Amino acid sequence: MQEKRQGKKQCPDCKELVGARSLKCKCGFPFWKYPVVSQQKQREEEKKRELPPITGRITISYPAGKCPIKLEELDEPTIREWIYRVLDYGIYNNRNYTIDAIIYFVREFYPTYTSEFQDAKRTIIGILCGQQDEGNSREMLEV
Ligand SMILES: [Zn+2]
Repeated sequence: MQEKRQGKKQCPDCKELVGARSLKCKCGFPFWKYPVVSQQKQREEEKKRELPPITGRITISYPAGKCPIKLEELDEPTIREWIYRVLDYGIYNNRNYTIDAIIYFVREFYPTYTSEFQDAKRTIIGILCGQQDEGNSREMLEV
């Protein structure tokens, strides 16, 4: 059905769909005089208009608010999962958290003087900077 509509244009006079290349409608409307945009083109134009405005994401190095996701454990998989959830949350809220921001968030759960904090920091750096082949984490952090 859809293919049939492609390459059609609507006659502004009788509203009939005619071939995009037709020069004249059955009703006599002269397309050669008043070119009409094809339905396909029209739909594309409408879609373009519906797109949300492009807004830049804000880069956050030192987040002001609370960490949106609780860091439950300090093992590598948990931290990895937590980082991705924090980054996802940031993207959803138009924010790019830098690695500094991620580490900053850890302070909420472990004070900076604790060995837990240092361990978590090392793990985060390892996940986000150490393993080049481990996915897009680096890219996600860069603006
Ligand atoms: Zn017509």
